[in-house]
Amino acid sequence: MPRSDEPIKAVRGVRDILPDERAIWRVAEQAAARVAHRFGYREIDTPVIEHQELIERGVGEDADAASKELYRFEDRGGRHLALRPEATAGIVRAYWERGLQQGPQPKRLYLIGAMFRYDRPQKGRYRQFFQFDVEAIGSASPALDVEVIEVARTWLFEVGLSELRLELNTIGDGKCRPAYLKKLRAYYRPFKDKLDPDCQRRLETNPLRLLDCKVPQCQPFKAGAPRITDNLCDECEAAWALVLKLLDAAHIEYQLNPYLVRGLDYYTRTVFEIYPAAATGQQDALASGGRYDGLAESEGWNPTPGVGFAGGLDRVTELMTSEGEVVISEPAADVVVIAEGDLVAEAAEVARIARTVSSVAVDYEPRSLARKMGAADKLGARWVALLGAEEAKRRVVRLKNMASGDQGEVSWDELPERLA
Ligand code: AMP
Repeated sequence: MPRSDEPIKAVRGVRDILPDERAIWRVAEQAAARVAHRFGYREIDTPVIEHQELIERGVGEDADAASKELYRFEDRGGRHLALRPEATAGIVRAYWERGLQQGPQPKRLYLIGAMFRYDRPQKGRYRQFFQFDVEAIGSASPALDVEVIEVARTWLFEVGLSELRLELNTIGDGKCRPAYLKKLRAYYRPFKDKLDPDCQRRLETNPLRLLDCKVPQCQPFKAGAPRITDNLCDECEAAWALVLKLLDAAHIEYQLNPYLVRGLDYYTRTVFEIYPAAATGQQDALASGGRYDGLAESEGWNPTPGVGFAGGLDRVTELMTSEGEVVISEPAADVVVIAEGDLVAEAAEVARIARTVSSVAVDYEPRSLARKMGAADKLGARWVALLGAEEAKRRVVRLKNMASGDQGEVSWDELPERLA
């Protein structure tokens, strides 16, 4: 609790995005919406609160990832709720609960919004962060795996991030994975004592996660581990071959990464991550995604295939900023109305007229004319409309062009024409 004699600051791990920063965020969000639309995806919004159970279902035995990070709470009605850590679970719920399973499939959907994870906050990792989430639900076609990869890449290209590395793997499905996990366990068992405590536990609860462990002492054992790509069932093999063929046909470069996995049972087949090309090992991805054909069922709906990705807007905007992506910060207002003394109603009326064609702010502060001009200049105003008592009577303003310094008298009614 904040001490009562101190001003109240923001909650740990969250941050404000200020107007100057919002300009770059808007570029990233608008590009996301534009690219999604270009690929035939429609916008959906789901609540940021969901039943804790919806998020925790399908987590499997290894509650590692999902549970520890879940921002959960009990509401006043004693309901166990969670702030969504990602959008997919909620979108799949909405797909069934709100009838999107009807009509032509797949449903192509996107969402831009806040996600919450109760992680230890650090640079680039926040407890509230934002994602551009894209989902194609209701089709098992591997062409859609490639489509969502293309949506992610196109988006990143459009915000000026063209040096990318796409990492790709498959993790099989409910048919071939169990036998593979058996092999993986059998391979790792003799080394159990040499693994770090987390991996010793994973060996029993979630052996796939052994492959993406980053702890140095576990690394030497990876290279000899059996690979899932050598252990796929016919269906997964065919899907994998088609994904690779379609990526080649689209001239999309990728790196196969046999250690790229997902810890949750409902993920199937394709998994991918997109990094800045210059990124080394530990750096976080800009976007990551894959197929989740088991998710709907784990939520209690009918089995429904789906594939998608989530891109991190915090990370993407940070990179856009550090790469010098130019965003011309828009002026707060194009026109500032500056009136003498108590001409408040008149100033407001001038603003109302000008606002039909332009963005207009009124300076209501009790300060000198010189200071008001200075403030208008700092706001980036292109025009200042000056209003004195005598001018108000004649319903005119002195309109000053801030760039050239030129000024002249304009009647209120002609303002829209002059400013347009
Ligand atoms: P994930 O849902 O974990 O696959 O993450 C998808 C993307 O969201 C990542 O590639 C990151 O860019 C971003 N992201 C995930 N967690 C955080 C976080 N705590 N803070 C900021 N960005 C995040």
